[in-house]
Amino acid sequence: MGNARNIAFWVVLFLLILALFNLFSGGQPNMSTRTVSFSDFVEAVDNGEVSTATIDGERVVFRDETGTDFVTILPDGVDVTDRLIENGATVNARPQEQSGFTTVLMSFLPFIILIGVWIYFMNRMQGGGRGGAMGFGKSRAKLLTEKHGRVTFDDVAGIDEAKEELEEIVEFLRNPQKFSRLGGKIPKGALLVGPPGTGKTLLARAIAGEAGVPFFTISGSDFVEMFVGVGASRVRDMFEQAKKNAPCIVFIDEIDAVGRHRGAGYGGGNDEREQTLNQLLVEMDGFEANEGVIIIAATNRKDVLDPALLRPGRFDRQVTVPNPDIKGREKILGVHARKTPLGPDVDLRIIARGTPGFSGADLANLVNEAALMAARVGRRFVVMEDFENAKDKVMMGAERRSMVLTAEQKEKTAYHEAGHAIVGLSLPKCDPVYKATIIPRGGALGMVVSLPEIDRLNWHKSECEQKLAMTMAGKAAEIMKFGEENVSNGPAGDIQQASSLARAMVLRWGMSDKVGNIDYAEAHEGYSGQTPGFSVSAHTKEMIEDEVKRFIDEAYQTAKSILEEKEDEFERLAQGLLEYETLTGDEIKRVIKGEPLDRGDDEDDEPTQGSAPSVTAIPKTKPRSKPTGGDGGLEPEPTA
Ligand code: ADP
Ligand code: ZN
Repeated sequence: MGNARNIAFWVVLFLLILALFNLFSGGQPNMSTRTVSFSDFVEAVDNGEVSTATIDGERVVFRDETGTDFVTILPDGVDVTDRLIENGATVNARPQEQSGFTTVLMSFLPFIILIGVWIYFMNRMQGGGRGGAMGFGKSRAKLLTEKHGRVTFDDVAGIDEAKEELEEIVEFLRNPQKFSRLGGKIPKGALLVGPPGTGKTLLARAIAGEAGVPFFTISGSDFVEMFVGVGASRVRDMFEQAKKNAPCIVFIDEIDAVGRHRGAGYGGGNDEREQTLNQLLVEMDGFEANEGVIIIAATNRKDVLDPALLRPGRFDRQVTVPNPDIKGREKILGVHARKTPLGPDVDLRIIARGTPGFSGADLANLVNEAALMAARVGRRFVVMEDFENAKDKVMMGAERRSMVLTAEQKEKTAYHEAGHAIVGLSLPKCDPVYKATIIPRGGALGMVVSLPEIDRLNWHKSECEQKLAMTMAGKAAEIMKFGEENVSNGPAGDIQQASSLARAMVLRWGMSDKVGNIDYAEAHEGYSGQTPGFSVSAHTKEMIEDEVKRFIDEAYQTAKSILEEKEDEFERLAQGLLEYETLTGDEIKRVIKGEPLDRGDDEDDEPTQGSAPSVTAIPKTKPRSKPTGGDGGLEPEPTA
């Protein structure tokens, strides 16, 4: 960066000189014009030798009868206009202000602009700025101050174990001397491991908030730049900045972006990332724990991190931040509902029970959406129904009732979704179907949502296979009903979802006997991404693709035979969806059996879930990943 600054300095200097030159030459518009003394000028006027004169403030440009131009300067307060006219000269005048302040301003404008530009760049380079062309080497660490809201441990709920493990760091930051006196060993770095939205950033901020120290945040991907060496110098700057502000917390989000295993999978490929990682390791070794800088990093892929990062003296403290369990969810809801007035019927425990798989961020979003729904209808507090609707929205995306579907699109969607639902209901290991709808939501024309009954911790092969079958059922249904040639683009999202699940089964979870228990995920990322893959033979690649395809084909066949076997139920459900548009899990079961639904009257009113708790009691989904069978759809052409 010293370099960048030097270059900028010389460029600006050069431009300044250029501007100066312009200014002075600009002062004399015509260099060949001769300047004469005022008395010579007066003499010429009196002799009638001046034919025209242009008065510009104190400057007079005049022409004699031979046509030669001269310039003279008027002494202060002298006016020669009358004299010129008396002697038969034509007098022009420039507007007065042109000569005064404006001229000065105009001539200084380039300077002002240049200086402005200079200050701007210098500022950016001084840090503070967010990088950019000249800012290359500077770390982009952002300082979050109290302005951004102080976060304390009270704001973090449901992850008590993680909190406890980090309490020690707070103690240390509050009173570093005490610790070093006792010879206690303080971790330099802590690694928070957990899925997105579980509160890792929040936790790190809370540590800073509790200890009352500055909090710097930067994302691992900020280090990864096109130019070799830039990332490394950013790391250096970041540590410099941190040491200046010690005691403080530096939070590196998504550390996997820089911290990936060196070498493996990237056949000598990524010098830049390796340099950056090396610099990070060097810096972490290069300061003493008692300097008061604590590095907290977050990732959800600890498995890809370079083991060197995890060695003692680096991120030796690891804290798992899981998705919250039911108790945790209740507490998180409590935290976020603190400032929201709740109606008497709201029971956070019931909501918590109905939201397995929700992360802290999802729950925060849920409370927010519920409050918005209440506000929209002008209620002063939030009732259970708002939470129900908010849950649907968070899980399935917002309803788009305004989207107009043709009768044909609607029918196709109904059969498609009925296919998902029937197969999902028929396979014992699929999560219970919670809702099916053909009202467009989010980017989808319709969807079937299924929710696990309990918090799901791991997946077995048979569950994966059945889930795959349910995912492929939409396409199977469309083909069965409308024929191969009439398949819509509706199943596109399903196919994508099925592929990524099947890939994970083969590549990461060792569920294919043929491919075996080898984690090829990294190699796979290699050859599908930009970097060339490592040593996977063409044969292995082919085998992997074959196995992925086999899983999907088998799933499709399973779905197809279920639908053929249950054709009557399939038909009834599709018709039911066409009639009611949205059906809950219980309603689906009744429609399938041909039982009538006791819905109010109006066709298109949202089923009023007055007795909500019974519905809520049926639990939930993996949010964030698309709901099962959600028609990850391509948008239909809006049809008039
Ligand atoms: P991560 O860094 O793990 O991706 P964040 O810390 O950015 O997740 O969480 C995003 C938001 O979700 C937080 O600002 C907070 O509002 C909410 N949140 C997440 N986890 C929790 C939690 N355990 N307690 C309270 N709020 C949470
Ligand atoms: Zn689908």
